[in-house]
Amino acid sequence: MDRVVFNFFDKESTFKALCDHFNIINREQALHFLTETDWESHDYVEFVKEFNIQLEDFEVSRVFITCKHITTFHDGGAALKKYGLLNLKEVFEKDTPLKIFLAERMISIDVDNRKLIFDGQYYPLFSREEKCPVCFDNNDAHGNSIHSIYEYHEAMILLNNKLSYDKGEIEVFIGNYRGPIEEYSCVKKHSEILNDIDHIIGAISGTTRLSKEWEELQRRTYYILEFDLNISSFENVKNYKDQLIYLGYKIDFEKISQGCLFNIFLIKNSINVITDRDREEYGQILPTVKISYDDLHITKRTWINEE
Ligand SMILES: [Zn+2]
Repeated sequence: MDRVVFNFFDKESTFKALCDHFNIINREQALHFLTETDWESHDYVEFVKEFNIQLEDFEVSRVFITCKHITTFHDGGAALKKYGLLNLKEVFEKDTPLKIFLAERMISIDVDNRKLIFDGQYYPLFSREEKCPVCFDNNDAHGNSIHSIYEYHEAMILLNNKLSYDKGEIEVFIGNYRGPIEEYSCVKKHSEILNDIDHIIGAISGTTRLSKEWEELQRRTYYILEFDLNISSFENVKNYKDQLIYLGYKIDFEKISQGCLFNIFLIKNSINVITDRDREEYGQILPTVKISYDDLHITKRTWINEE
């Protein structure tokens, strides 16, 4: 079976994939219907009815979604070539530029045992519900210690959530609507997790400029990695059912298959892209998915100094 690639970054490509996947022959009629329907007051069901689409009939195992990920590195891409695109847990376990950079500054992260290690000292990671184990055991710990610094606890919780709760999954863009993807957060300068580590080390040692130091090594260079991933590799698409419930869709979820939910997602998101409306912009890749170097299309970019 031929693969169908939904590239939600591109309107024409999205329209082609929509017609290919759902076997829509009369493309002129489809385009007319899509552009003439008032999607503010109608939803994807109109499209399903108009083209008599049996949502269960279209095999989603052939569906791929175009992803973009922004990263920074200063090893010439050696780790990327060696390991492919790693999840956050692997980033701290293998010899990656980030792990080496932190090790040179006496910092490491033990993901399995949920500890940050700095200068030979252990600092436990914890969730908001668990509360800081140090403060929990010893209420006096607040005093003049690092635990009296608000950012320390907040940054520890954030770091913990990214590594444990989110299972270290890779975040990608699957579309853009609110502006260029490189303007998202700090990603073109350094990885987001470095901010959290920066806050923790700042609270412990008083001074820190990890993010700045990383940025200096990059010399304003960042990389856009582009790749196509099977629809079953995503966390959020997998949980699309929850989103539909949240949005108040009256669907008998007991009787609905995963493939059917994927197809609903594909139709809804395609309509939004083709008609210039708000669409899904982010995807979370399941931590077990392997993305090899050969699957990546890499573009090197440089950002202009805003200062
Ligand atoms: Zn504490």
